[in-house]
Amino acid sequence: MRISRLALIPAAALAFAAPLTACSSDDAATDTETAEVVTEETAESTAEETEAVASGSDSDSSPVQVVATTTMLGDVAAQIVACANPESTATTLMPIGADPHDFAPSSAQVAEMVTAQVVISNGLGLEAGLDDALENAASDGAIVIEIADMVDPIPFGAGGHDDHSDEAKEDDHDDEHSDDEHNDEAKEDDHSDDEHSEDEHGHGGEDPHFWFDMNRMATAAQLIGDQLAVENGQAYADCGAQIADGIRAAEADVRALLESVPADQRILITDHDALGYLADAYGYEIAGTVIPAGTTLAEPSSADLAELVKVMQDEGVQVIFANTADPSALSDAVAAEVGGDVQVVQLFVGSLGEPGSGADNYISMMRTNAELISNALNA
Ligand SMILES: [Zn+2]
Repeated sequence: MRISRLALIPAAALAFAAPLTACSSDDAATDTETAEVVTEETAESTAEETEAVASGSDSDSSPVQVVATTTMLGDVAAQIVACANPESTATTLMPIGADPHDFAPSSAQVAEMVTAQVVISNGLGLEAGLDDALENAASDGAIVIEIADMVDPIPFGAGGHDDHSDEAKEDDHDDEHSDDEHNDEAKEDDHSDDEHSEDEHGHGGEDPHFWFDMNRMATAAQLIGDQLAVENGQAYADCGAQIADGIRAAEADVRALLESVPADQRILITDHDALGYLADAYGYEIAGTVIPAGTTLAEPSSADLAELVKVMQDEGVQVIFANTADPSALSDAVAAEVGGDVQVVQLFVGSLGEPGSGADNYISMMRTNAELISNALNA
């Protein structure tokens, strides 16, 4: 298995995850009252899956208490532990609709993280408001997994900001396993193509929004299962593999939807620089972002907004993809400034949706996003 590749985070290493603390976050403490979402699975279908995957494994697994940070990771973690041992619990820190960039935990949640056996975080600076709590959990003995760093992250801007990235994008369609080669090329290009100013906001480097590539999320599921198996039994690894297979199978639908958009119309304007993995995996171009940064904590200047309006007018872009986890006022303003029939489409970016939203688990979230993108750009 891949246990030897796992990189558990010692407390000192968590200092890497703190580049955003200098950014202001007036609303960082909102929603913390409603934050606890316990996602322990009790459905009969889950029990059946458990038998199918790990028959006879009851003696091969012990229950585990897992805390995950984002709703996407919480969904995947809950499925894995429910499959491996129904007595396990998986708790998700962030409530539905929270923006991972500005979420801050309650004191009760901090305590819960400290007592958890395993904390699954996204990492790469995504959860700027959780850095201290993650560090404390690690120093108090919890195993803290920073999963984005373990799935071959790509740099910001790898989705391509120019017309020269088409060849690399087409190659990516053919071979999902060749990311390394392409990413190295993309990294070099991006250094000379610094349209965005993430560095000014302390957010340069690797992009944490890896869940927009379902193959990377599948890898994450497998890695989480493998990690849990180390101390709690092989059933967790088997279940991680099963959940990963389900994500990979669903990816085919998402790919078909996103590739139904003609290549010359695969142009994305987004609220912040969050869809680089989707662009890289499915041959899209990120032509601009309302917030010129990889975090929602930054703010665009009037010059940034004017430049975006010009890009949209020059390229004839008719859609801005906003984010259900954040207000769309800025995107609405840009759309109005561009004029014409520009529409603002809300994607599920930083969070799953409420039950009934069509995005209440990770797979349905990705399928709904793909439908929203393909419908908007095929119109
Ligand atoms: Zn983001």
